Amino acid sequence: MTRLTDFLYTAQPARVVFGRGSLRRLADEVEALGAKRALVLCTPQQREQASDAAAQLGHRCVGVHDGAQMHVPIESARQARALALELGADCAVAVGGGSTIGLGKAIALESALPIIAVPTTYAGSEMTPIYGITADGLKKTGRDARVLPRTVLYDPDLTDGLPIGLSVTSGMNAIAHAAEGLYARDGNPVMSLMAEEGIRAMAQGLRALVATDADTASDARRTARDECLYGAWLCGTVLGHVGMALHHKLCHTLGGSFDLPHAPTHTVVLPHAMQYNAAAAPEAMRRIARAIGQSDAPGGLFDLAQALGAPVALRDLGMQEADIETATRIALTHPYWNPRSIEADAVHALLRQAWAGHRPAAT
Ligand code: NAD
Repeated sequence: MTRLTDFLYTAQPARVVFGRGSLRRLADEVEALGAKRALVLCTPQQREQASDAAAQLGHRCVGVHDGAQMHVPIESARQARALALELGADCAVAVGGGSTIGLGKAIALESALPIIAVPTTYAGSEMTPIYGITADGLKKTGRDARVLPRTVLYDPDLTDGLPIGLSVTSGMNAIAHAAEGLYARDGNPVMSLMAEEGIRAMAQGLRALVATDADTASDARRTARDECLYGAWLCGTVLGHVGMALHHKLCHTLGGSFDLPHAPTHTVVLPHAMQYNAAAAPEAMRRIARAIGQSDAPGGLFDLAQALGAPVALRDLGMQEADIETATRIALTHPYWNPRSIEADAVHALLRQAWAGHRPAAT
Protein backbone atom coordinates (compact mmCIF):
# COMPACT_ATOMS: atom_id res chain seq x y z
CA MET A 1 0.00 0.00 0.00
CA THR A 2 1.29 3.49 -0.80
CA ARG A 3 1.74 5.85 2.11
CA LEU A 4 -0.83 8.64 2.26
CA THR A 5 0.96 11.97 2.41
CA ASP A 6 -0.40 15.19 3.91
CA PHE A 7 -2.43 17.30 1.51
CA LEU A 8 -4.40 20.48 1.10
CA TYR A 9 -7.46 20.60 -1.14
CA THR A 10 -9.48 23.66 -2.14
CA ALA A 11 -12.35 22.93 -4.55
CA GLN A 12 -12.91 25.39 -7.41
CA PRO A 13 -16.51 26.60 -7.33
CA ALA A 14 -17.84 25.74 -10.80
CA ARG A 15 -21.30 24.46 -11.63
CA VAL A 16 -21.28 21.68 -14.23
CA VAL A 17 -24.21 20.62 -16.40
CA PHE A 18 -23.47 17.51 -18.46
CA GLY A 19 -25.59 15.74 -21.04
CA ARG A 20 -26.72 15.50 -24.63
CA GLY A 21 -29.08 18.34 -25.47
CA SER A 22 -28.01 20.35 -22.43
CA LEU A 23 -27.52 23.41 -24.67
CA ARG A 24 -31.30 23.72 -24.30
CA ARG A 25 -30.69 24.62 -20.66
CA LEU A 26 -28.54 27.61 -21.55
CA ALA A 27 -31.23 30.24 -20.97
CA ASP A 28 -32.02 28.77 -17.53
CA GLU A 29 -28.34 28.80 -16.65
CA VAL A 30 -28.00 32.46 -17.67
CA GLU A 31 -30.99 33.28 -15.47
CA ALA A 32 -29.56 31.25 -12.60
CA LEU A 33 -26.61 33.66 -12.65
CA GLY A 34 -29.03 36.56 -12.37
CA ALA A 35 -27.99 37.71 -15.86
CA LYS A 36 -30.23 38.99 -18.66
CA ARG A 37 -27.90 40.19 -21.43
CA ALA A 38 -25.51 37.55 -22.71
CA LEU A 39 -22.79 38.12 -25.29
CA VAL A 40 -22.01 34.88 -27.16
CA LEU A 41 -18.36 34.35 -28.17
CA CYS A 42 -16.96 32.03 -30.86
CA THR A 43 -14.38 31.71 -33.64
CA PRO A 44 -15.43 32.48 -37.24
CA GLN A 45 -15.42 28.68 -37.83
CA GLN A 46 -18.01 28.06 -35.11
CA ARG A 47 -20.48 30.78 -35.99
CA GLU A 48 -23.20 28.18 -36.59
CA GLN A 49 -22.89 26.58 -33.14
CA ALA A 50 -22.80 30.05 -31.58
CA SER A 51 -25.99 30.97 -33.46
CA ASP A 52 -27.66 27.86 -32.02
CA ALA A 53 -26.65 29.04 -28.57
CA ALA A 54 -27.97 32.53 -29.35
CA ALA A 55 -31.27 31.02 -30.53
CA GLN A 56 -31.60 29.20 -27.21
CA LEU A 57 -31.08 32.49 -25.41
CA GLY A 58 -33.64 34.43 -27.47
CA HIS A 59 -34.07 37.95 -26.07
CA ARG A 60 -31.38 37.24 -23.44
CA CYS A 61 -28.72 37.37 -26.20
CA VAL A 62 -27.36 40.84 -26.99
CA GLY A 63 -24.93 39.72 -29.69
CA VAL A 64 -22.66 37.09 -31.20
CA HIS A 65 -18.99 38.01 -31.46
CA ASP A 66 -16.87 35.72 -33.65
CA GLY A 67 -13.51 37.34 -32.84
CA ALA A 68 -11.92 34.51 -30.83
CA GLN A 69 -8.41 33.64 -32.02
CA MET A 70 -5.66 31.22 -31.04
CA HIS A 71 -3.53 32.45 -28.08
CA VAL A 72 -5.87 35.39 -27.33
CA PRO A 73 -4.06 38.38 -28.90
CA ILE A 74 -4.48 41.39 -26.59
CA GLU A 75 -6.16 43.38 -29.39
CA SER A 76 -8.89 40.73 -29.66
CA ALA A 77 -9.39 40.83 -25.88
CA ARG A 78 -9.68 44.64 -25.90
CA GLN A 79 -12.12 44.56 -28.79
CA ALA A 80 -14.32 41.96 -27.06
CA ARG A 81 -14.27 43.85 -23.74
CA ALA A 82 -15.26 47.07 -25.50
CA LEU A 83 -18.11 45.29 -27.29
CA ALA A 84 -19.37 43.73 -24.06
CA LEU A 85 -19.40 47.18 -22.47
CA GLU A 86 -21.07 48.83 -25.46
CA LEU A 87 -23.82 46.19 -25.56
CA GLY A 88 -24.33 46.30 -21.79
CA ALA A 89 -23.63 42.57 -21.52
CA ASP A 90 -23.95 41.14 -18.03
CA CYS A 91 -22.48 37.74 -18.89
CA ALA A 92 -20.52 36.05 -21.69
CA VAL A 93 -21.21 32.62 -23.16
CA ALA A 94 -18.09 31.10 -24.74
CA VAL A 95 -18.98 28.41 -27.29
CA GLY A 96 -15.83 26.65 -28.48
CA GLY A 97 -12.43 25.32 -27.52
CA GLY A 98 -9.62 26.73 -25.40
CA SER A 99 -9.16 29.77 -27.64
CA THR A 100 -12.78 30.94 -27.32
CA ILE A 101 -12.98 30.19 -23.62
CA GLY A 102 -9.65 32.04 -23.34
CA LEU A 103 -11.27 35.12 -24.88
CA GLY A 104 -14.08 34.87 -22.33
CA LYS A 105 -11.49 34.71 -19.56
CA ALA A 106 -9.68 37.77 -20.94
CA ILE A 107 -12.95 39.74 -20.73
CA ALA A 108 -13.61 38.47 -17.20
CA LEU A 109 -10.11 39.34 -16.02
CA GLU A 110 -10.78 43.08 -16.18
CA SER A 111 -14.55 43.30 -16.02
CA ALA A 112 -15.40 40.40 -13.66
CA LEU A 113 -18.17 39.53 -16.13
CA PRO A 114 -19.44 36.02 -15.30
CA ILE A 115 -18.61 33.42 -17.96
CA ILE A 116 -20.64 30.42 -19.02
CA ALA A 117 -18.44 28.00 -20.95
CA VAL A 118 -19.82 25.61 -23.55
CA PRO A 119 -16.73 23.55 -24.49
CA THR A 120 -16.55 21.90 -27.88
CA THR A 121 -13.04 20.37 -27.60
CA TYR A 122 -11.32 18.39 -24.83
CA ALA A 123 -8.68 21.01 -23.88
CA GLY A 124 -10.13 21.63 -20.40
CA SER A 125 -9.72 25.42 -20.09
CA GLU A 126 -13.34 25.70 -18.89
CA MET A 127 -12.45 24.12 -15.54
CA THR A 128 -9.44 26.30 -14.72
CA PRO A 129 -8.75 29.77 -13.31
CA ILE A 130 -5.77 30.00 -15.71
CA TYR A 131 -5.75 32.68 -18.42
CA GLY A 132 -3.35 33.50 -21.24
CA ILE A 133 -3.08 36.71 -23.27
CA THR A 134 -0.54 37.38 -26.04
CA ALA A 135 1.02 40.85 -26.34
CA ASP A 136 4.10 41.80 -28.41
CA GLY A 137 4.60 38.16 -29.39
CA LEU A 138 4.73 36.96 -25.77
CA LYS A 139 1.98 34.91 -24.13
CA LYS A 140 1.48 35.95 -20.53
CA THR A 141 -0.34 33.42 -18.37
CA GLY A 142 -1.63 33.72 -14.86
CA ARG A 143 -4.20 32.48 -12.36
CA ASP A 144 -7.14 34.56 -11.23
CA ALA A 145 -10.33 33.35 -9.58
CA ARG A 146 -12.36 35.88 -11.63
CA VAL A 147 -11.69 34.04 -14.90
CA LEU A 148 -12.96 30.64 -13.75
CA PRO A 149 -16.22 30.08 -15.65
CA ARG A 150 -19.15 30.13 -13.25
CA THR A 151 -21.09 27.50 -15.16
CA VAL A 152 -19.89 24.87 -17.62
CA LEU A 153 -22.35 23.25 -19.94
CA TYR A 154 -21.01 20.05 -21.48
CA ASP A 155 -23.20 18.99 -24.40
CA PRO A 156 -21.64 16.10 -26.38
CA ASP A 157 -23.91 17.02 -29.34
CA LEU A 158 -21.58 19.97 -29.95
CA THR A 159 -18.54 17.71 -30.22
CA ASP A 160 -20.00 15.29 -32.78
CA GLY A 161 -18.57 17.36 -35.64
CA LEU A 162 -15.09 17.84 -34.15
CA PRO A 163 -12.76 16.39 -36.82
CA ILE A 164 -11.19 13.10 -35.76
CA GLY A 165 -7.58 14.33 -35.90
CA LEU A 166 -8.41 17.34 -33.71
CA SER A 167 -10.41 15.09 -31.35
CA VAL A 168 -7.48 12.73 -30.85
CA THR A 169 -4.84 15.38 -30.17
CA SER A 170 -7.23 17.39 -28.02
CA GLY A 171 -7.94 14.23 -26.01
CA MET A 172 -4.22 13.50 -25.61
CA ASN A 173 -3.80 17.11 -24.45
CA ALA A 174 -6.39 16.39 -21.76
CA ILE A 175 -4.61 13.19 -20.75
CA ALA A 176 -1.42 15.23 -20.33
CA HIS A 177 -3.11 17.45 -17.72
CA ALA A 178 -4.22 14.43 -15.71
CA ALA A 179 -0.89 12.60 -16.10
CA GLU A 180 1.06 15.52 -14.64
CA GLY A 181 -1.64 15.98 -12.01
CA LEU A 182 -0.82 12.50 -10.71
CA TYR A 183 2.62 13.61 -9.57
CA ALA A 184 1.90 17.28 -8.85
CA ARG A 185 3.66 18.75 -5.83
CA ASP A 186 0.32 20.09 -4.59
CA GLY A 187 -1.61 16.97 -5.58
CA ASN A 188 -4.25 15.35 -3.40
CA PRO A 189 -6.18 12.06 -3.35
CA VAL A 190 -9.34 13.57 -4.85
CA MET A 191 -7.48 14.95 -7.86
CA SER A 192 -5.62 11.67 -8.30
CA LEU A 193 -8.95 9.81 -8.44
CA MET A 194 -10.24 12.25 -11.04
CA ALA A 195 -6.98 12.09 -12.99
CA GLU A 196 -6.91 8.32 -13.24
CA GLU A 197 -10.60 8.11 -14.16
CA GLY A 198 -10.16 10.99 -16.63
CA ILE A 199 -7.29 9.22 -18.40
CA ARG A 200 -9.25 5.95 -18.46
CA ALA A 201 -12.38 7.56 -19.89
CA MET A 202 -10.47 9.59 -22.47
CA ALA A 203 -8.30 6.69 -23.66
CA GLN A 204 -11.35 4.41 -23.93
CA GLY A 205 -13.43 7.11 -25.62
CA LEU A 206 -10.71 7.97 -28.15
CA ARG A 207 -10.16 4.33 -29.07
CA ALA A 208 -13.91 3.90 -29.63
CA LEU A 209 -14.02 7.15 -31.61
CA VAL A 210 -11.36 5.97 -34.03
CA ALA A 211 -12.96 2.52 -34.26
CA THR A 212 -16.31 4.06 -35.25
CA ASP A 213 -14.89 6.52 -37.77
CA ALA A 214 -16.83 4.93 -40.61
CA ASP A 215 -20.10 5.01 -38.73
CA THR A 216 -20.50 8.48 -37.31
CA ALA A 217 -24.23 8.12 -36.63
CA SER A 218 -24.01 4.91 -34.53
CA ASP A 219 -24.83 4.63 -30.84
CA ALA A 220 -21.27 3.40 -30.22
CA ARG A 221 -19.96 6.60 -31.77
CA ARG A 222 -22.20 8.79 -29.62
CA THR A 223 -21.18 6.85 -26.52
CA ALA A 224 -17.53 7.37 -27.46
CA ARG A 225 -18.11 11.14 -27.72
CA ASP A 226 -19.88 11.16 -24.34
CA GLU A 227 -16.98 9.27 -22.76
CA CYS A 228 -14.39 11.67 -24.22
CA LEU A 229 -16.22 14.77 -22.99
CA TYR A 230 -16.64 13.22 -19.55
CA GLY A 231 -12.89 12.51 -19.56
CA ALA A 232 -12.23 16.09 -20.65
CA TRP A 233 -14.18 17.42 -17.69
CA LEU A 234 -12.18 15.28 -15.25
CA CYS A 235 -8.80 16.07 -16.80
CA GLY A 236 -9.61 19.78 -17.01
CA THR A 237 -10.62 19.75 -13.34
CA VAL A 238 -7.22 18.33 -12.45
CA LEU A 239 -5.49 21.07 -14.46
CA GLY A 240 -7.53 23.66 -12.57
CA HIS A 241 -6.60 22.34 -9.14
CA VAL A 242 -2.94 21.32 -9.16
CA GLY A 243 0.32 22.57 -10.65
CA MET A 244 1.85 21.21 -13.85
CA ALA A 245 5.49 20.23 -14.37
CA LEU A 246 8.14 19.57 -17.04
CA HIS A 247 5.76 18.30 -19.72
CA HIS A 248 3.71 21.52 -19.70
CA LYS A 249 6.86 23.68 -19.54
CA LEU A 250 8.22 21.94 -22.64
CA CYS A 251 4.96 22.31 -24.52
CA HIS A 252 4.67 26.01 -23.65
CA THR A 253 8.24 26.50 -24.86
CA LEU A 254 7.63 24.67 -28.12
CA GLY A 255 4.32 26.44 -28.74
CA GLY A 256 5.47 29.88 -27.65
CA SER A 257 8.92 30.02 -29.26
CA PHE A 258 8.57 27.75 -32.28
CA ASP A 259 4.89 28.18 -33.02
CA LEU A 260 4.21 24.44 -32.88
CA PRO A 261 0.49 23.53 -32.68
CA HIS A 262 -0.79 23.22 -29.10
CA ALA A 263 -2.57 19.86 -28.88
CA PRO A 264 -0.35 17.89 -31.32
CA THR A 265 2.74 19.10 -29.42
CA HIS A 266 1.27 17.81 -26.14
CA THR A 267 0.52 14.50 -27.87
CA VAL A 268 4.10 14.04 -29.08
CA VAL A 269 5.92 15.19 -25.95
CA LEU A 270 3.81 13.38 -23.34
CA PRO A 271 5.34 9.85 -23.56
CA HIS A 272 8.85 11.33 -23.39
CA ALA A 273 8.11 13.62 -20.46
CA MET A 274 6.64 10.59 -18.65
CA GLN A 275 9.79 8.60 -19.44
CA TYR A 276 11.87 11.43 -17.98
CA ASN A 277 9.86 11.36 -14.74
CA ALA A 278 9.15 7.62 -14.54
CA ALA A 279 11.68 6.68 -11.87
CA ALA A 280 10.84 9.75 -9.76
CA ALA A 281 7.06 9.16 -9.83
CA PRO A 282 6.43 5.39 -9.85
CA GLU A 283 2.94 5.57 -8.33
CA ALA A 284 1.78 8.04 -10.99
CA MET A 285 3.20 5.76 -13.70
CA ARG A 286 1.39 2.77 -12.23
CA ARG A 287 -1.90 4.65 -12.28
CA ILE A 288 -1.43 6.01 -15.82
CA ALA A 289 -0.54 2.52 -17.10
CA ARG A 290 -3.60 1.04 -15.37
CA ALA A 291 -5.83 3.77 -16.80
CA ILE A 292 -4.75 3.11 -20.39
CA GLY A 293 -4.68 -0.68 -19.91
CA GLN A 294 -0.92 -1.02 -20.54
CA SER A 295 1.95 -2.33 -18.45
CA ASP A 296 4.18 0.72 -18.97
CA ALA A 297 3.04 4.38 -18.92
CA PRO A 298 5.55 6.10 -21.29
CA GLY A 299 5.59 3.35 -23.93
CA GLY A 300 1.86 2.77 -23.48
CA LEU A 301 1.07 6.45 -24.14
CA PHE A 302 3.26 6.38 -27.26
CA ASP A 303 1.46 3.25 -28.50
CA LEU A 304 -1.91 4.84 -27.74
CA ALA A 305 -1.07 7.97 -29.78
CA GLN A 306 0.21 5.85 -32.65
CA ALA A 307 -2.83 3.54 -32.61
CA LEU A 308 -5.08 6.62 -32.74
CA GLY A 309 -3.26 7.91 -35.82
CA ALA A 310 -1.83 10.93 -33.97
CA PRO A 311 1.57 12.48 -34.74
CA VAL A 312 4.45 11.03 -32.67
CA ALA A 313 7.41 13.15 -33.88
CA LEU A 314 8.08 16.87 -33.42
CA ARG A 315 9.80 16.94 -36.80
CA ASP A 316 6.45 16.06 -38.37
CA LEU A 317 4.97 19.16 -36.70
CA GLY A 318 7.51 21.39 -38.43
CA MET A 319 10.24 21.63 -35.79
CA GLN A 320 13.79 21.86 -37.15
CA GLU A 321 16.53 19.66 -35.68
CA ALA A 322 18.62 22.76 -34.96
CA ASP A 323 15.82 24.06 -32.71
CA ILE A 324 16.36 21.27 -30.15
CA GLU A 325 19.34 23.15 -28.68
CA THR A 326 17.45 26.45 -28.33
CA ALA A 327 14.32 24.72 -27.00
CA THR A 328 16.39 22.99 -24.31
CA ARG A 329 17.89 26.30 -23.26
CA ILE A 330 14.52 28.07 -23.07
CA ALA A 331 12.90 25.15 -21.23
CA LEU A 332 15.64 25.34 -18.61
CA THR A 333 15.02 29.01 -17.81
CA HIS A 334 12.46 29.50 -15.03
CA PRO A 335 11.64 25.77 -14.90
CA TYR A 336 8.44 24.57 -13.24
CA TRP A 337 8.72 22.31 -10.21
CA ASN A 338 9.21 18.72 -11.40
CA PRO A 339 9.45 15.39 -9.53
CA ARG A 340 12.88 14.79 -11.07
CA SER A 341 15.43 17.58 -11.11
CA ILE A 342 15.78 19.36 -14.44
CA GLU A 343 19.04 18.21 -16.04
CA ALA A 344 20.15 19.90 -19.26
CA ASP A 345 21.58 16.82 -20.97
CA ALA A 346 18.57 14.67 -20.11
CA VAL A 347 16.09 17.34 -21.30
CA HIS A 348 18.07 17.66 -24.53
CA ALA A 349 17.93 13.87 -24.97
CA LEU A 350 14.18 13.89 -24.26
CA LEU A 351 13.58 16.53 -26.94
CA ARG A 352 15.77 14.67 -29.42
CA GLN A 353 13.74 11.49 -28.88
CA ALA A 354 10.48 13.42 -29.26
CA TRP A 355 11.78 15.19 -32.36
CA ALA A 356 12.73 11.90 -34.01
CA GLY A 357 9.56 10.11 -32.84
CA HIS A 358 11.29 7.19 -31.12
CA ARG A 359 9.23 5.03 -28.77
CA PRO A 360 10.38 5.43 -25.15
CA ALA A 361 12.09 2.26 -23.94
CA ALA A 362 10.25 0.22 -21.26
CA THR A 363 10.97 1.47 -17.74
P1 NAD B 1 -9.03 25.92 -30.24
O1 NAD B 1 -10.00 26.48 -29.28
O2 NAD B 1 -7.94 26.81 -30.72
O3 NAD B 1 -9.84 25.33 -31.48
C1 NAD B 1 -9.16 24.91 -32.66
C2 NAD B 1 -10.10 25.05 -33.86
O4 NAD B 1 -11.13 24.05 -33.79
C3 NAD B 1 -10.82 26.40 -33.91
O5 NAD B 1 -10.89 26.83 -35.25
C4 NAD B 1 -12.20 26.06 -33.39
O6 NAD B 1 -13.18 26.95 -33.82
C5 NAD B 1 -12.40 24.67 -33.92
N1 NAD B 1 -13.35 23.86 -33.18
C6 NAD B 1 -13.46 23.76 -31.83
N2 NAD B 1 -14.44 22.91 -31.51
C7 NAD B 1 -14.98 22.46 -32.67
C8 NAD B 1 -16.03 21.54 -32.97
N3 NAD B 1 -16.70 20.90 -32.03
N4 NAD B 1 -16.31 21.32 -34.27
C9 NAD B 1 -15.59 21.92 -35.24
N5 NAD B 1 -14.57 22.79 -35.01
C10 NAD B 1 -14.27 23.05 -33.74
O7 NAD B 1 -8.33 24.59 -29.69
P2 NAD B 1 -8.17 23.98 -28.22
O8 NAD B 1 -7.17 22.90 -28.36
O9 NAD B 1 -9.47 23.70 -27.62
O10 NAD B 1 -7.55 25.17 -27.38
C11 NAD B 1 -6.18 25.49 -27.47
C12 NAD B 1 -5.90 26.79 -26.73
O11 NAD B 1 -6.46 26.73 -25.43
C13 NAD B 1 -4.41 27.04 -26.56
O12 NAD B 1 -4.16 28.40 -26.79
C14 NAD B 1 -4.16 26.69 -25.10
O13 NAD B 1 -3.08 27.39 -24.56
C15 NAD B 1 -5.47 27.04 -24.46
N6 NAD B 1 -5.75 26.26 -23.24
C16 NAD B 1 -5.88 26.94 -22.08
C17 NAD B 1 -6.14 26.25 -20.91
C18 NAD B 1 -6.31 27.02 -19.63
O14 NAD B 1 -6.55 26.43 -18.59
N7 NAD B 1 -6.20 28.33 -19.67
C19 NAD B 1 -6.29 24.87 -20.92
C20 NAD B 1 -6.16 24.19 -22.12
C21 NAD B 1 -5.90 24.90 -23.30
